Amino acid sequence: MSIVYLNGTFLPMQQATISPMDRGFLFGDGIYEVIPSYGGKFVGFKAHIERLKSGLAELMIREPEIDWYAMLSSLVAQNGSGDLGLYLHVSRGADERRFHAYSDPTKVSPTVYAFTFQIGSEPIADPAKTKRYRCGMTEDKRWRRCHIKSTALLGNVMHFQEGQSAGLDEMILYNAQGQVTEASACNVFMVKQGVVYTAPLDDQLLPGITRALVINILAKYSDIEVREEFFDKSELLAADEVWITSSSKEIVPVIEVAGQKIGHGEPGAIWCRAQKLFSDHKYEY
Ligand code: PLP
Repeated sequence: MSIVYLNGTFLPMQQATISPMDRGFLFGDGIYEVIPSYGGKFVGFKAHIERLKSGLAELMIREPEIDWYAMLSSLVAQNGSGDLGLYLHVSRGADERRFHAYSDPTKVSPTVYAFTFQIGSEPIADPAKTKRYRCGMTEDKRWRRCHIKSTALLGNVMHFQEGQSAGLDEMILYNAQGQVTEASACNVFMVKQGVVYTAPLDDQLLPGITRALVINILAKYSDIEVREEFFDKSELLAADEVWITSSSKEIVPVIEVAGQKIGHGEPGAIWCRAQKLFSDHKYEY
C-alpha cells in the first residue's frame, strides 16, 4: 500500500483527506514539483527545492517549516526505495470562505502533500531501447505565467489531451509569433548542424530542471554548443534532431512532429551523446 505525506503525517494514501475548502482544490492555488529518485538517489534535488521556494515566494505562500530532504527521503524509504517519482505539492491551504484574494497567512496554513509513483527504470542512451516520441504541434493557449509550476494545469491538460486524442505522445507549443516555447509537459530542444537550441527562459515556459541539467552537463562535459535562442516551428520541422525533456523522462528523441519525419526518423547521434552524459552526471546536481 502506498504511503503518503500530508501536513506532518505519513499515512496510507486511502486515509489522506483534505478540506473541500482547500484553495488548491477550489482555485488551483498552489505549486508542485516532481523529483525522480532511483534506488533512493534523487536527481536535481537542490534545484527542485529552489524552484519550489521561488514559486512559493512569487505566490506569497509562506514556506512550510519542513526539512524537505529528510521528509522526502523517509517517504521514498517507506515506499520501497525503487525507481520512483516524488510528487510534492504545496497549496495556500483551506480558508473559511471562497474569496479570490490571498488568505491571511497568519490564519491559513499551507497544505503539504507528497506521494510517490512508479517512474520506470532509468532511461539509457541506447537508440534501440529508448522511447521515441511522435508529437503534434499547436499554438499555446495557456496563460502568460508559465514559469510558475502551478497546480492549475488545465491549459496543459487540454493541450496534452489534444495529442492523446490524435494518438500522439506530446504536443509541442508555439507562441503567436510562431516561436517554439515548450511542450504541454516537457521542454523542447532541437539540433541543427551540430548545435543544440532551446528557447530562452521567460514567462512562456517552465524553467525545467532537466533542461537546466542538460545545458550544464553539456557545457561542462562536452564540446557540444547549446544556444538558448528562440527558433520557429518551420525550423523545428527542418531540424536534424528534436528532443523533449522532463524529470520523469530525461531526454527523449522525437522522431516525428505534425506528421513530418525529423531528420532520419531515428534517435540522433547527438541525442545519444547527450543522454549518455546525462546518465553519467545527473547525480552531481
Ligand atoms: N514544461 C512543462 C509545462 C512541464 O510540465 C514540465 C514538467 O512537468 C517541464 C517543462 C519539464 O520540467 P522538469 O524538467 O523540471 O521536469
